Amino acid sequence: MSPAFPVFACPYAKKLAAKSRRFALQVYDAKTTGNAAAAKYSADPFGELSGAGKIPGLKQRFPDRVLVMTTERCFMTCRHCTRQGIFGKAPIVDTTEKLAACVEYVKAHPKVRDVLLSGGDILTLPDKKVMEFVDAFTALPQIDLVRVCTRALCVNPSRITSALAKKLARSGKVWVNTQFNCADEVTDEARAAAARLVDAGIPVSCQTVLLKGVNDSGSGMLKLLKSLSAARIRPYYVFMCDPVAGIERFRVDIEKARKIEQYCAERIGGLSLPRFVIDKPGAKRKIPI
Ligand code: SF4
Repeated sequence: MSPAFPVFACPYAKKLAAKSRRFALQVYDAKTTGNAAAAKYSADPFGELSGAGKIPGLKQRFPDRVLVMTTERCFMTCRHCTRQGIFGKAPIVDTTEKLAACVEYVKAHPKVRDVLLSGGDILTLPDKKVMEFVDAFTALPQIDLVRVCTRALCVNPSRITSALAKKLARSGKVWVNTQFNCADEVTDEARAAAARLVDAGIPVSCQTVLLKGVNDSGSGMLKLLKSLSAARIRPYYVFMCDPVAGIERFRVDIEKARKIEQYCAERIGGLSLPRFVIDKPGAKRKIPI
């Protein structure tokens, strides 16, 4: 594990971990996390470090979208994080010049219509910095969507202020993508944060990771999906664990995943039913399980 890997949990996340065992399991703990060096999986399966392109902090895997690494900080370090092997090593867009280079790249690739502002968690940055990223891309006529990728709704919901929601909504192009993994996480505070975004006009979607011990049962997953849609957060994807070293303890086998999907599909309508997928390095799409 990189010594630069920032192990951290904000006060709200610590409080939630004290109340919920399923959430506590997701908080990074060096003592119980697998040994990345000894594992059969890669620390960088998507080549975010080894295959880094010419533009520092920008990554393009698909023709219509790019990922921009805005920071390496998070409100909480997740034990299942896909990027845990590259934190502290991968380039981030931390200067005006680097952001300008990303914008130039997008302009030179007119098929790009969707920008993911990721990291780390972009909302660990101050509003002014967040809006510099958002405005730089929403201003481009070719861009239809800018995705603010943040786990703040779940791990630090007070970060989603009404003032921030209003600023994010002003272009009409921003969507928020978040991550909740079990129903315990959909607290009153999280629901209020989602309401601030949705009431401002921002669609909120959730990507869940299928994790052993956290959400690997039909009834547990169904409870999460119901809680999310009641909070006006659209369940969007359930991902099988990425092939990342160090997270072996969380892997759920594919047959079990299919049974969980079927259990939910037979009990909830399509609007609340996410796609269960695998994000496979080199694949041209997310692969249904
Ligand atoms: S919030 Fe996202 S990027 Fe940050 S540690 Fe958790 S999974 Fe990784």
